Amino acid sequence: MEQKYKQEQEFPLASVAELSSSLSSPVPESSPVFARFGGGTSGTAELQFHRESESIDGLRVDLRAAQLFKLGPVQSVCISEGSNDKKEKSYSRGITIQFRDEEESSAFHCAFDQWNKEVVQGTDLANGVVSDSKKSKFDDKVEPYSAKMYFHYYGQLLHQQNMLQDYVRTGTYYAAVIENRADFTGRVVVDVGAGSGILSLFAAQAGAKHVYAVEASEMAEYARKLIAENPSLGQRITVIKGKVEEVELPEKADILISEPMAWFVGTLLVNERMLESYVIARDRFLVPNGKMFPTVGRIHMAPFSDEYLFVEIANKALFWQQQNYFGVDLTPLYGCAFQGYFSQPVVDAFDPRLLVAPAISHTIDFTKTKEEDLYEIDIPLRFIASVGTRVHGLACWFDVLFDGSTVQRWLTTAPGAPTTHWYQLRCVLSQPLYVMAGQEITGQLRMIAHSSQSYTIYLTLSAKMWGPGAEQGGILQTSSCKLDLKEPYYRMSQPQAYAVAQDQQPHPLMHAQDIQIQGEDLEEPELLQQQIQNTGGQLQ
Ligand code: SAH
Repeated sequence: MEQKYKQEQEFPLASVAELSSSLSSPVPESSPVFARFGGGTSGTAELQFHRESESIDGLRVDLRAAQLFKLGPVQSVCISEGSNDKKEKSYSRGITIQFRDEEESSAFHCAFDQWNKEVVQGTDLANGVVSDSKKSKFDDKVEPYSAKMYFHYYGQLLHQQNMLQDYVRTGTYYAAVIENRADFTGRVVVDVGAGSGILSLFAAQAGAKHVYAVEASEMAEYARKLIAENPSLGQRITVIKGKVEEVELPEKADILISEPMAWFVGTLLVNERMLESYVIARDRFLVPNGKMFPTVGRIHMAPFSDEYLFVEIANKALFWQQQNYFGVDLTPLYGCAFQGYFSQPVVDAFDPRLLVAPAISHTIDFTKTKEEDLYEIDIPLRFIASVGTRVHGLACWFDVLFDGSTVQRWLTTAPGAPTTHWYQLRCVLSQPLYVMAGQEITGQLRMIAHSSQSYTIYLTLSAKMWGPGAEQGGILQTSSCKLDLKEPYYRMSQPQAYAVAQDQQPHPLMHAQDIQIQGEDLEEPELLQQQIQNTGGQLQ
C-alpha cells in the first residue's frame, strides 16, 4: 500500500537552541541531539528536536510555517511563525542549529526542502488534511535566502542605475516601444518586474491606456515616487508591489513588457530565473494571443580559441603548487583548485575573431514556451571548424526580438556588437581539443536550473582525432566541464586585442594590422603543457 506520509527522517546535530529564550539553553555536546522530520500529533508535518529518546521541551516546529536559513557552513536558523507552547502565538521564533560538519548540514537542508516540497506543498498530509500553505510557485522553486538577496539587490537604486546606464539595452527598449506605438496606444500593459518603472513610463509615452507595474523589491517605492513626479504619464500607471506569481490584477493585459534576460548571464552576483516569472505572468495576465515585448529569445553558441584566457585561468591555481608555504605542502589541493577555476563561467567582452566556427542558436519563443521547459535546457551542438586550432571552450551570448506590428527590433549581446552590461559568457575546458579546418566538433550544452535562481551548466565537446589513432576510426577527443552560472568570473575589462598564440594558425578573418601584442607575455609554455597532461582529458 502506498504510504501517505514520507518516512520519518532523523539527523544528528552538534547543538540546538532557541533564540532569545530561557527555555532551552544549548544542549551540551556530550548529550547527542537529533532533529527529526515526521508527522506531529495534529497530523501536520513537523520538525522535532530530541535528545537521545526524549524530546526537548517546546522544540517542535510546524513545517508549514517554517523557513530555514544558512548562517554559516555548519550553522543554520529555523524561523517559524507563532509558537506551539506559548501564548504569544503571533511572535515568530527562531531555533539555531549547529551541525557537526558541512555534509550533515547539506543533508539536513536537502531533507528540509524535500519535506517542504513533498509533504507541506503536496496536497495530502498524513491524516488527509489539505495544507493551507500560501506559498506561491516562486517560493516553491527558490530558496528563501536566495530570494531575499535577489530582491535586496534590486531594491537598491545603484543596481537599477547600472541597467538604466546600459544605453544599448535601455535605448533598444525605448526604440522598440516608441516605434511600435500601435501596439501600446489605448492598450492595457503589464510591466513584469518593473524595477524603477522605466519601461512602464515608456509604455505610457507610447499611449498605453493603463500600465500595471509589478515589482517585488523595495524598488517599488522608488518607482511610485518616480511615476508620481511624472504626472502626465504617471496617472496611467499603477505600481503594484509583489511577485508576479502572487499579485492579482483588476484586468487582463493586451501586452506584457519586461526585461527578464539577466536569467542567462546575470550582472554582478545575481543570476536569475526571471524568464520563468515572465512566462508565469503571461499565463496569469495576458489575453489570448496578446503581445509580449520581448517576444523571442535566442541563445547563440560557438567554439572559441583563446590561449591567453586558458593560461590565465590555469595559472590561477599555480599558488597551490607551492611545496613549502610556511612549511606546508599545498600541492595536494592543486588539482581541486585547478578544476575549481575551470568551473567558473567567464564573463567578459571578447573579440569575435576568437570564434573558430559559425555560431548555432537555440530559440525560445516566450509566447509559447512552458515554464517547465526552462527548468532544463538541453542543446545538441554541432560545428564545423573554420580553422585548425586549439578549441578552449564554448562562447555563448543571446539576443531578443521585439516583434512589433510596425518594426521588428533585436537587442543583441553578440561579441563585436556594442557591449552591454551582460557582456558574453564563455565556458572554458580544462582540456582543450585540437581541430583541423573543416573538422566536425560535436557535443552538448545542458543547463539545469537550481533553487538559487541560477543554472548548473554541463558542457561536452568532442572532435575526431587525426593522426595514428584515427585510421582505426571512431576515436574521439572529448572534454567536459561542469560550471555554476551563479559563480562567474567577471573578467570584463574592455574588449581585448589578441595575438595569435604559438600553436594557433592565423584565423582567416584576422588581419595582421588588427593584432596588437598584449602587455603580458605567455609564460612557461612547458609548465602549461604539463598542466594539461596532468588534468586528464579523456580519450574515448
Ligand atoms: N524593468 C526594469 C528592471 C529590470 S530588472 C528595467 O528594465 O530597468 C528586473 C526586475 O524584476 C527587478 O527589479 C526585480 O526585483 C524584478 N523581479 C524579478 N522577479 C520578479 C517577480 N517574480 N515578481 C516581481 N518582480 C520581479
